[in-house]
Amino acid sequence: MSRIAYVNGQYRDLRDANVNVEDRGYQFADGVYEVCEVRGGRLVDFPRHMARLQRSLRELRIAEPMPLSALGIVMHEVVRRNRVTYGLVYLQITRGVARRDHAFPLNPVKPSVVITARALNYAKNQQTAASGIKVITVPENRWPRVDIKSVSLLPNVLAKQEAREKGAYEAWYVGTDGFVTEGASSNAWIVTGDGRVVTRSADHGILAGITRAVLMEVMAALQIKLEERPFTPAEAKQAAEAFVTSASQIVIPVVAIDGQAVGNGQPGGVAKRLREEFHRFSAFS
Ligand code: PMP
Repeated sequence: MSRIAYVNGQYRDLRDANVNVEDRGYQFADGVYEVCEVRGGRLVDFPRHMARLQRSLRELRIAEPMPLSALGIVMHEVVRRNRVTYGLVYLQITRGVARRDHAFPLNPVKPSVVITARALNYAKNQQTAASGIKVITVPENRWPRVDIKSVSLLPNVLAKQEAREKGAYEAWYVGTDGFVTEGASSNAWIVTGDGRVVTRSADHGILAGITRAVLMEVMAALQIKLEERPFTPAEAKQAAEAFVTSASQIVIPVVAIDGQAVGNGQPGGVAKRLREEFHRFSAFS
């Protein structure tokens, strides 16, 4: 079955789904995106993703291309047309098409919208979670506004590539203050010896992950103690457990950091439990 993308008002075969070469997303990475997990054909925690999208657009002064309710309908339609039951839906909105000039177009242009969906391999993701992943640490080199979910992801691309070349799956950024900020495409967490779960607060320096927010509600319901504070790579390497969260992978245990085993080098019980419980607490639309 060929894949279908939504591009600026049309559902097209992916091979014919093109954007203009003067799209500001293409030339300046002047745009934002969202990734939502699809389960049972439904979108997970969709209202929260839309709220974050709205904030990202506002921060960059990009107009909403259509009412968000309509955007939601199109996203569901793309999932349906691609027959995705388990996978993800990707939404990208850029400032639009204009003759190349760094400043915003003088005459407002319509923002561009691209939506794609694809199936993920459930068994493979379960296997990744069961074995756990390795992470490396890299110096934080991103701009300070990583709270905006912008498509400017070059530092993240390079960090992921470095991780891959070193046999790891994710890279954790470490700021000049010595503390871990987050992963190249995930939020970073550790579990202390006495069972407290630690993650950095989302006020600055990280993306406020939707999975992160929902997981905090899961922990409250399960009476697992949470500490919102930064941690260093050294503390993480000595921790009982570590894990990462993202909408496409939910909770994935981390078993090694910079080649050093975390805990006993096996996925931890808290991370496993949080992964299992997560969807009992998430909203499906
Ligand atoms: N931080 C970064 C840099 C990310 O790219 C992501 C994944 N989009 C996250 C955190 C996790 O956010 P979410 O749980 O909303 O997917």
